[in-house]
Amino acid sequence: MSVTPEPLHQRVIFKGLLLMVSGAGVFYFLINIQRGLIGLAWTELAMSVASLWLWRNVDALKALRLWSFLYLIPFFSIILFALSDSRISYGMFVWVLLIPIVSYLLLGLWRGFAMTCVFMTLAAAVYIWRFHNNPEVINTVVLANVMVCAAALWAFSHIYELSRERSQRILMKLASRDALTGLYNRLRLTEIFNRERQQAEAQRQPLSLLLIDLDYFKKINDHYGHDTGDQALVAVAAHIRQHLRRRDSAFRLGGEEFCILLPGSGREEAHALAESLRLSLAEQHQLVAALRTRLTLSAGVATLGADGDDFVHLYSMADQRLYLAKHSGRNRVISEGQAVPEHSVQEEKSPSSALQTTL
Ligand code: GH3
Ligand code: MG
Ligand code: MG
Repeated sequence: MSVTPEPLHQRVIFKGLLLMVSGAGVFYFLINIQRGLIGLAWTELAMSVASLWLWRNVDALKALRLWSFLYLIPFFSIILFALSDSRISYGMFVWVLLIPIVSYLLLGLWRGFAMTCVFMTLAAAVYIWRFHNNPEVINTVVLANVMVCAAALWAFSHIYELSRERSQRILMKLASRDALTGLYNRLRLTEIFNRERQQAEAQRQPLSLLLIDLDYFKKINDHYGHDTGDQALVAVAAHIRQHLRRRDSAFRLGGEEFCILLPGSGREEAHALAESLRLSLAEQHQLVAALRTRLTLSAGVATLGADGDDFVHLYSMADQRLYLAKHSGRNRVISEGQAVPEHSVQEEKSPSSALQTTL
């Protein structure tokens, strides 16, 4: 369900590369024009100008990976084109060593691998085609140096990007999950809501939001201790998970408050799911071993369209209904009804008002 954001370093590295190529392009243009390599010189100048233009606009680029991909093809092609010219020394080959590093850093693991495969194979072909008659270059020692060095850079680039992507996945998971229950945390709520809302609107499907607050949970902590309270929260989260369908997502907002997004469910269906959660929880004799009391929950339901068109309105309506559920005696689900008048909300803070202020 999670979307991997574009890693920040790719933009910085792309900028650095563009700046380096725009400077090097002018430098090689001046050298090659003097040597009479007119075609190559003008190609290098064109690359330099294009790099400078991209460098000035790179912060505003949206599809950075696509731009990097489109940029690397002419960049690597010019390196190979220069290498293929018999008037250019074989020292030019060191530029080929940039191919794996830059490809992996800018394109990620598998696109970087594919790009490296294509251009390293072409580079090897150009190298052999150009130097096959030159015993100074095509000899065991030189070939071994070139191949070992290129293979090592390729391998290190691959290993680095593999570990970086793995670490990023782990960090993303840690940052988006509640450590106690493993449910999503509140940081993901608006992001996932907005994604579900877009889908719901595009597919003309309903979407409901459910806010849940456990009843008298403070007493559980006071009576059984915080550890048992924690175990009860873990058990409630597992209970919620069991009731979810494939596309639903559950969040622990903090303390003993939970939120569930129900794509495809209108008011009645969301109410029925919340009722089923409430009843089955209240029926559990012993949710966790040390707990001799049954836990109950109160819930408020709000539905896209009828109760608001954005997150703030929907959340606020669900919160007000949760508040009504608490004040109507707890252990109930409310999915319809008027908003509580302003003055009575202020008398006692609504269950999730602390969260609302942070959203
Ligand atoms: P109400 O029915 O009005 O919701 O009463 P309540 O006691 O559940 O509500 P209140 O918000 O006053 O108390 C919530 C309690 O949840 C307070 C705190 O002791 C407990 N709590 C918050 N976070 C945690 C946690 O991570 N672990 C445990 N064990 N308890 C927590
Ligand atoms: Mg509570
Ligand atoms: Mg609470």
